[in-house]
Amino acid sequence: MVSGSPKDKRMKKAVIVVLGAGLGGVSMVFDLKAELGNSHQIVLVNKTESFQFTPSNPWVGVGWRTKGDITVELAPLMDRHGIDFIQASARKLRPEENRIEMEDGSSVDYDFLVIATGPELAFDEIEGLGPEGHTQSVCTVDHALQANAAFEAFCADPGPIVVGAVQGASCYGPAYEYAMIMEKELRSRKIRDRVPMTFVTAEPYIGHLGLGGVGDTKGLLEHELRQRSVRWITNAKVEKVEAGAMTVSELNDDGTEKTKHQLEFKYSMMLPAFRGIGAVRDIEGLVNPRGFIIVDKHQRNPKYPNIFGIGVAIAIAPLEKTPVPTGVPKTGYMIESMVLATAKNIKAILAGKDPVDEATWNAFCLADFGDRGVAFLAQPQNPPRNVNWASEGMWVHLAKVAFEKYFLRKVRKGITETYYESAIMKMLAMHKLK
Ligand SMILES: Cc1cc2nc3c(=O)[nH]c(=O)nc-3n(C[C@H](O)[C@H](O)[C@H](O)COP(=O)(O)OP(=O)(O)OC[C@H]3O[C@@H](n4cnc5c(N)ncnc54)[C@H](O)[C@@H]3O)c2cc1C
Repeated sequence: MVSGSPKDKRMKKAVIVVLGAGLGGVSMVFDLKAELGNSHQIVLVNKTESFQFTPSNPWVGVGWRTKGDITVELAPLMDRHGIDFIQASARKLRPEENRIEMEDGSSVDYDFLVIATGPELAFDEIEGLGPEGHTQSVCTVDHALQANAAFEAFCADPGPIVVGAVQGASCYGPAYEYAMIMEKELRSRKIRDRVPMTFVTAEPYIGHLGLGGVGDTKGLLEHELRQRSVRWITNAKVEKVEAGAMTVSELNDDGTEKTKHQLEFKYSMMLPAFRGIGAVRDIEGLVNPRGFIIVDKHQRNPKYPNIFGIGVAIAIAPLEKTPVPTGVPKTGYMIESMVLATAKNIKAILAGKDPVDEATWNAFCLADFGDRGVAFLAQPQNPPRNVNWASEGMWVHLAKVAFEKYFLRKVRKGITETYYESAIMKMLAMHKLK
């Protein structure tokens, strides 16, 4: 399927396949192009025709963005940059054969593979959860569109909202964001007084974020929720969701049940737990029991050294055991640091050298609340840290809007890090590589 595959050595070019064209995969092909030029073949494989800027999905959920605002068509973009693009969905990876079987029956061969497939959304682990059940999601742009249609219907006939993230979730920022921006939108529509709101989270305390908190995220986020009259339940395990009702078990710190809640709602958005995609699951040595790619400090799989993993698809052990399981978030800047290390390491291997570059995995996040927001920087990701900083204010909202515009421009133009970005990151003393 791919011309110039390993069997076709006429050009003696290595074929580097990047599977998944999200935030990680798209940055990956541009970084590879910047490192390798035209000396090797770069192939991007993605199941959908467009890139989507996932951090803007909560805005789509309240109608502040359209799908067109935050997506970029991949085929013409890749064509302009000399990168092969295949729109197809991976069914099964055959790492012993350096080959990916696709759902349409075709195969993609590779010399190097970078897996950037993000998460599979594990709605099926809780009865009634998800867009095919009784709760909405903002994890993909299509889910966010569906969430927006339901939100519009809800605003015509409001009632209680339940919003948050379930047990095993690793991505808490967007749950806080969606709660706060819905709250802002309800105030703008002058119907906030008709909407009791409850934030339900697996985190042991507000602002834990799967990171043990960053700076005073506990205080800042509790303050924001209090200011907006949103009550919360932490250590929450969602048992099941029925039409208009969620059964939640609130646990004590020792894991025993403290209270059972029966929460009625007219609208609910709950982030699910993530797991690795089906195409890689159960491949011994490649993935952990949840299907996340096992990587070493060079982003390389120890058993299959021509396979690298980046982004949400990789395995990162939880920081600590919490009464209700929580995962570690993989945020945008952290992902970009994995991308750069991978590009440099593949270049080194192709030159016959050992890979040496290591991503910093620093967590930097801007959580937008519609009119203000909370930013945090954890360096390194796990405490104790050299930088453990969180702040809030209107500037975060403005910075997030600017970041969206900047990142989408960067994708549309196919550029890697610019002088402007480097300068800001230097100011924050953040570096992608160790
Ligand atoms: C709603 C939401 C908001 C977020 N907001 C922020 C934020 O504000 N700041 C921040 O730093 N982080 C944020 N994150 C976390 C993280 O940055 C994003 O999840 C990011 O999109 C992850 O990038 P990724 O490349 O690992 O995966 P994704 O962006 O999910 O990309 C995976 C790609 O793989 C493709 N794919 C999947 N399966 C297959 C298959 N079988 N075959 C072929 N292709 C496949 C998908 O179509 C997709 O294009 C957010 C996450 C979510 C869910």
